[in-house]
Amino acid sequence: MIKLIVILLYLSKEAFDAFIDYLDSTYIRKALPENVRDVYNEEEYENWVKYEKEGGRVDLISQLVTIAVTLCLLGFNVYARIFDLLSGMNVYLQYLVFLVILSSVLLIFDLPFDYYDTFVIEEKYGLNKSAKKTFWLDALKNHLLGIIISYGLIMLIMILFENFGNLAILWGTIAVLVIILLIMLVIIPLMRIFNKFDPLPKGELKESLLKLCDKYGVIVKKIVVRDASRRTTKANAFCTGIGRRKTISLDDNLVNEYSPEEITAVFAHEFAHARYRHTVKSLPFSAFNILVVFISLAVVLNIPGLYQAFGFEDINYYLAQMLTGVIIWPLGTLMEIIGNYLSRKHEYQADAFAAKEGYGNMLISALKRLSKESLSDINPHPAEVILNHSHPTLSQRISAIEAEMVKS
Ligand SMILES: [Zn+2]
Repeated sequence: MIKLIVILLYLSKEAFDAFIDYLDSTYIRKALPENVRDVYNEEEYENWVKYEKEGGRVDLISQLVTIAVTLCLLGFNVYARIFDLLSGMNVYLQYLVFLVILSSVLLIFDLPFDYYDTFVIEEKYGLNKSAKKTFWLDALKNHLLGIIISYGLIMLIMILFENFGNLAILWGTIAVLVIILLIMLVIIPLMRIFNKFDPLPKGELKESLLKLCDKYGVIVKKIVVRDASRRTTKANAFCTGIGRRKTISLDDNLVNEYSPEEITAVFAHEFAHARYRHTVKSLPFSAFNILVVFISLAVVLNIPGLYQAFGFEDINYYLAQMLTGVIIWPLGTLMEIIGNYLSRKHEYQADAFAAKEGYGNMLISALKRLSKESLSDINPHPAEVILNHSHPTLSQRISAIEAEMVKS
């Protein structure tokens, strides 16, 4: 009975996600909002529609495969079977080997879709620049990193709940928050696993960016350029770090292809994230989120008969964290909605800052170009935005920037 309920909960989550994807797909051919009609010309628009449809089809097939695999793993108690095979080992090693086997199996079902997406779809639309070697190296690095992170998390959960009982909720929340803070301090060195970050070369561009920094005091420690062009033609920029260690990273695709005015406008947006300390401001919500997860974990760990239903003799901490996500999915979705809402609020604030600094028109021009060149969805369904988008839509951003320009 428990097993059936869990499987039904899992399927209801997948059905909900599929429904949102379906709603979003019905918007593909809808008339575009007035202020983004000039992003794509007719030919580019048709190209974008094709790109969206092809991508959507691959996502759907990939999703169906994931569902089938998960149902097999749950239905035939495969987790417990693998875990039992390793029962001669000490428990720390047992979990590690279990995770290596399980994630390698899952990778086999995942990788073909990644490969197809990169070398067939992205390639066809001129967005891919990855060499095969980069792709395989990335897959390997992601795989290892994924195992290290899940193993660390599961061990943390096990050690805390076995030693502190329900007090583990408190210690766990604190521990994860501390880990997040530590990661923020070394985020750029960590990202060097995948990318090169070089200091922005001296010149007119750097000077105009530093002028903005000087105006508000030194709150950005470093401006770096990321070698995004090794993988894609898409461009991005981000602000990261806390305290005095904030770094703004601009993709080489942006620095090399866009006008100095457009780059400065994008930089002003990222600079606003640093100035308003958005990373730190999002920490209380992260803390609350982690707390909710640990409370849910404590509840799931205490459901009698849950582990036996999936073939385990005793509590299994891998299954516990995995089923927590399944069992509390409506709560998880609610947390995501709130998190995305807060993030979109920060994005509006950052855009407004750039507009107030006089970069409104240049920011609009840069955002339009960035959307067009990465074949972005410029007309997503409102439900998709509320649930999954950390940024407002292009049209919403343009309207807000224009309103800000009228004000100032
Ligand atoms: Zn932003």
